[in-house]
This record gives sequence, C-alpha cells and structure tokens, in this order.
Amino acid sequence: MFGHMAQKGLKVKTEVSHFDMIVVGAGFAGLYQLHKARNAGLKVKVLEAGEGVGGTWFWNQYPGARCDVESLDYSYSFSKELEQEWDWSERYATQPEILRYLNHVADRFELRKDIHLGARVAAARFDDITHRWILTTGAGEVYEAQYLVMATGGLSAPQRPTLANLDAFAGAWYHSAQWPKAGVDFSGKKVGLIGTGSSGVQMAPLIAEQAAQLTVFQRTANFSVPAENTLIDAATLRQAKANYPQRRAIALESYGGSNLPANPRTAKEMTAEERIAEMEFRWRGAGGGHRMQRVFADVMTDTATNKLVSDFVRSKIRETVRDPRVAELLCPKEDLPFGAKRLCVDSNYYETFNRDNVELVDLVADPLVAATERGLRTVERDHELDVIVFATGFDAMTGALLAIDIRGMHGQSLRDKWANGPTTYLGMSMAGFPNLFIITGPGSPSVLTNVVHSIEAHVDWTMALIERARKDGVVRIEATQQAENAWVEECAHAATTTLYAKANSWYWGANIPGKPRVFLAYVGGAPAYRKILESVAVNQYQGFKLSALKRR
Ligand code: NAP
Repeated sequence: MFGHMAQKGLKVKTEVSHFDMIVVGAGFAGLYQLHKARNAGLKVKVLEAGEGVGGTWFWNQYPGARCDVESLDYSYSFSKELEQEWDWSERYATQPEILRYLNHVADRFELRKDIHLGARVAAARFDDITHRWILTTGAGEVYEAQYLVMATGGLSAPQRPTLANLDAFAGAWYHSAQWPKAGVDFSGKKVGLIGTGSSGVQMAPLIAEQAAQLTVFQRTANFSVPAENTLIDAATLRQAKANYPQRRAIALESYGGSNLPANPRTAKEMTAEERIAEMEFRWRGAGGGHRMQRVFADVMTDTATNKLVSDFVRSKIRETVRDPRVAELLCPKEDLPFGAKRLCVDSNYYETFNRDNVELVDLVADPLVAATERGLRTVERDHELDVIVFATGFDAMTGALLAIDIRGMHGQSLRDKWANGPTTYLGMSMAGFPNLFIITGPGSPSVLTNVVHSIEAHVDWTMALIERARKDGVVRIEATQQAENAWVEECAHAATTTLYAKANSWYWGANIPGKPRVFLAYVGGAPAYRKILESVAVNQYQGFKLSALKRR
C-alpha cells in the first residue's frame, strides 16, 4: 500500500507498513509487549531508537551500573522456563548481565524479527477516520497500526544541565545514560563527576579506583544505603529457583512488587531497642538495599519516624567517612526526608571519600559557574579536569513521550494536553488519544516499584482489554475525560498524604527547569493499584469508552 507525502512541492510515494500494533521501545516493556501481543495473534512491529535491544540497560553502560532491585525479582515472571534456565550470578546484577539477559529473551522468544533497531519515532498521529495511528520515524519511514503502545520507559530522556562554555572544554565529557559502548578509560585522568543520585553513587567508587583523581560535585546530599551485594552460589540459586512461585507471590503482595519484607509495625508500636535493632538489621544484616525503605510501616508518612531513620543513616555516614567536614557535607539536610528523593543504593560510596584521590565539592557553598578549557569553574576556584561526567539524571516519566510529536483526536497535541503536567487514566491511557497505551506511564506505580513487575502487570492488563475489544468488534478504546480527571485527582491526593511531598525530586519534575510540579507516579503501591485495575476490568472496563465503530 502506498500513501502520499509532499516533498519539495512534489507528490512522492511513501511506503507505509501496516500492523495491528506498533510498540515504541525494545526494553523490558517493549520486549514483553511484543511477545504477548504476537502470541495473541497480532501483527506487531517494535520501533527502537537504539542499535540494540535492552532500553535502559542498552544505554546506561557507565562503570558500576547495576540494578538496585534484586535480579531474582527484577526479571520476567511470565515464563517459568525462562525463570529456570537463566542463572543470575549476583544478587544485584550488573548492567552487562541484565543486557545479556534481555538479549537472551529476544533470541529465546524469537523477538528480533519484529524489531526495527535504529528507528527513532519522531511523530505519531491518530487518524479520526480510520481510528488508527500513523507513525513517522526520523528517517521518514511511515508505519500505521490500530494500537500504539509506548514502551519508552520512565527514565530514558537524559537530562544534562546547561553548562556555560562546555564547548570550550578541551577534555571529554559523558552523560551516564549515553555512555560510549567501548567504555571509557579513566586511567591517569582527573575526573569531575557532577551528580550524586543513583547513577553517581554507583560510578564514583569505580571511577575513583581507576582515575588519578576524582572530584565529586554535589548539589544535594541524598540518602544512600549499602547494597550488600553478593554473588549467588549454586545452592542458593537452586533453592531460589525451586521457590520462585512463592517468591513471586510475595512480590505480588508487596508495596514495591519485589521480595522485600516490610515491617508491618509503625515505629511507635516498637520500643527504642526494637527500633534500633530493626534499622541495624536492615542496614546490613537483612541484606541492605531498599529494605530500609520498609523499615517501619510509617516511614514515609510520619515525620518523627522518618527523622529517626534519617538520623540513623546520618550516624552511619559519620561513622564511615573519616573527615568530619566531608561527612557533614555528605549527610542529607534535615529538610530532606529519608526516601523522599529516590533512595540510592551503593557499594562503598561513602567509603570512597576516605581515599586520598577523592575530593567532594559542595555546590551549595560554592556553586558551579561554567566549564573552562581545562575543567570546571565554581565561584571560588578552578578545578582542573581531563574528563567531566554528568550523572545528572533524566526528564523523568514524560521526557521520552513528549520528545515525540504525538497527536490524538482532532490533531490535539500531547505536548499541549500535558502543558500543565501529565494527565492519564490509570497511568496508561488518555482521553482524546484512543488506542494508545503507555506502559508504566505517569500516574502508575512504575518508578516506585520493581518496574519489571509493573511492566508485566500493565502489558497483561492492556492485552486482556485489547483481546476483549477485538472479540467484540471494538475498533476504538479510549479513556473518558471524567475517568482521567478522577484518576489525576486520586494520584495528586495520594502523594500529598506522604513525605514524598516534602522533597524537590524528579518524582515531582523538580529537576527540570520549568517542568510543571506534578507527582509523576501513583504512591498507593502495587497491590492497591492491581486491585484497582482488576475492579476496572470486572466493571466492564469502567472509565473506558469502547466503540464498535465501522470503518467509513
Ligand atoms: P538523579 O537521581 O536525578 O540524580 C541527578 C543528580 O545530578 C542529583 O544529584 C542532582 O542534584 C544532580 N544535578 C542535576 N542537575 C545539576 C546541576 N545543574 N548542577 C549540579 N548537580 C546537578 O539521576 P540518576 O542518578 O541518573 O538517577 C535517576 C533515577 O534512575 C534514579 O532515581 C533511579 O530511579 C534510576 N536509577 C536506578 C539505578 C539502579 O537501579 N541502581 C541506577 C541509576 C539510576 P540535585 O539533587 O540537587 O538536583
């Protein structure tokens, strides 16, 4: 079939490829979406901007990159065979291992034949007459499908602050999420690292080991907890595999969709000794990581409980870092509740500041001014550097979606619709944008959970809806404006009942100048969210308008 495209005043024929579903992105979400939709009999094409599958794990190849959700949880549960045949080697797998896993998934389920790599989608337009989506890639290819699934990821649009004079810097610079595939050799180099979020705390210890000098430029001290990473030995792996059903069942019922035992008691229900014991146990004994975020039932809702945990972590930082001045700078300030900015999980981050070749620059006292030919200038001094690393995060949850010119009914632009912040129904669907689904979009638990779990939940749910629609002859599925408004209100209200409200975090879009301040995820937790999805489905997909329209 051929469409027509005006080019330089001439009508030229452009080949249009037709599908039942186009999926944008070949990370965890896109791969599973393809598998699931293809098994349901749909003709699917995945368009992926990268030259390989893997999404986040394809791009973020910086030193020390690993997932801080345990791999036995941060892995697909849809295939029991896959669970049994894949051997995770570490509790928290490294980026290369996760990328190998995703490549294995792509091969094992023969996904590659339906994935177009190096295809960056530039625009997507809903056709009001055919009820189908028309996509154009940067290279000018045109695709057309009934369903459009955005599997573009919540943390995939890198954010680099405007730094005056960067062009004049004679050395090399890198962003954590656009890391060169050949790697970077820091040997003998003076390295400046800007950013101390999850990416920065993971890479600092490794860069420090290799580089001649590491200068860490910190604006806000955030809380980081020890990963307590370990290798998984054969016996442990065998047992874990035998217990997978139980493990997944626990994850299903946990707030964050992983196997983290939550303390059901509030701090007030425990004695002072019990509280200390619980925190110590979770800091090291119980395995570290995000367990600390579940240390008390009220840690994210009660200011006094949160301060207890904050003080505990600050005491650990002071115990670890030998120079008291540096330790104080690394201690998060009193106005930042523990966990309100995304908790960092590290291996030897604070210990790194005991090295002779590591310096911490406090950008609050001495702000960054500009790059220079030989490094970075802060108000008080010049820092001589060979390499600058930006670990400055992402335009979270909306950045990748708004990078594409998405237009729904009557040509309405998503950029306009979201001018005051993202609005969705259930974090996956939008009024005015029929047949479009976002996997783990704004307004879903997504980034507050084990995202693989949330991805599977979204893909399964949307596919059940699509299959039902296909059976009933429905050609158009759209969220009602009323349902969307109610969900937006529910998400906003839920966020303000927690201490997440107290931090200027990327959860609120606060890291992007001018971004509307809207809490970008649903804080009610994965189980509560799942029950909402179940209830919507049972109630004839309440909040959706399903139209069995005939094509004109
Ligand atoms: P991030 O958490 O947003 O951290 C960005 C860091 O850069 C912050 O310290 C921020 O300081 C700093 N920064 C930003 N702009 C700056 C500027 N103009 N001047 C100085 N400093 C600036 O980004 P991230 O570390 O890449 O992590 C993002 C998210 O990705 C994480 O929260 C997590 O969800 C996910 N992630 C997960 C893992 C994992 O599983 N282990 C690893 C990496 C990332 P301020 O705080 O002052 O803004």
